[in-house]
Amino acid sequence: MQIARTVAEFRALRASQPGPLGLVPTMGYLHEGHQSLIRAARAANATVALSLFVNPTQFGPNEDFTRYPRDEARDLAICEAEGVDLLLMPSVEEMYPAGASTTVSVGPLSTVLEGAARPGHFDGVATVVTKLFTITEPDRAYFGQKDAQQLMVIRRLTEDLRLPVEIVGCPIIREPDGLAMSSRNVYLAPEERTQALALSRGLRAAVAAWDDGVRDASSLRSRVREEIEAQPLARIDYVSLADQGTLSELEGPVMLPALLSLAVRFGATRLIDNVVLEPSS
Ligand code: AMP
Repeated sequence: MQIARTVAEFRALRASQPGPLGLVPTMGYLHEGHQSLIRAARAANATVALSLFVNPTQFGPNEDFTRYPRDEARDLAICEAEGVDLLLMPSVEEMYPAGASTTVSVGPLSTVLEGAARPGHFDGVATVVTKLFTITEPDRAYFGQKDAQQLMVIRRLTEDLRLPVEIVGCPIIREPDGLAMSSRNVYLAPEERTQALALSRGLRAAVAAWDDGVRDASSLRSRVREEIEAQPLARIDYVSLADQGTLSELEGPVMLPALLSLAVRFGATRLIDNVVLEPSS
């Protein structure tokens, strides 16, 4: 594995690698969710690149940028073991040189749900992903369905800017007890960790209701809320059942496909999870 800390270093290394190139963008503190993206990239590309960059512009002023978990040595070992060829680990100054003032803003998809709760978040994501694409020039880029809205925003920007990269979405990887894997799970105190199981349990309850024929949007949202509201440490940011194409909130009988998503706080820790209600289910 070769490591680049600057754009110039990455470009020089990339030039000597065979194509196609698959890129896995991450903020590090890698877990099995990230590993599943690396494996998907490894299976389909001659060269796999992973970027490890905690992007300041996607964090709000009161968010966890400075305390975001970091463990470079462990991340390097995981990348080695998973067969990553090129690791891009740029500094903030390298990604945002003095005077940088360009922002990529994707529009309506960016302002609902996560975008409403975290103003500016998706501008930061869209800007850094566009930069990563122009730096690494991937043939394919891999993103998790765990961040369902982020995946939609990135698909939109790739199409709108006519970027020559195929966006590959990968399923959510969960702990054996159902909690969606996240670098932020490490923040949870033991009692919060136990109560956080209500997120996936709530989603499963809604899917079970869906399978039983329940189609009313607010009934489906209520199934999720009931599970989470029973947890004294949980504070719901939102529980949403939205059109999978536009993310507009659904009311009445659900027309498919629909994204059931949520954000819940436990103290200062904010967790997200989702499931897609499929036409066939
Ligand atoms: P992050 O390092 O949190 O920015 O995540 C980097 C990539 O890994 C994003 O595309 C995420 O959606 C994806 N990812 C994070 N957690 C999971 C998970 N539990 N399952 C699948 N993909 C994930």
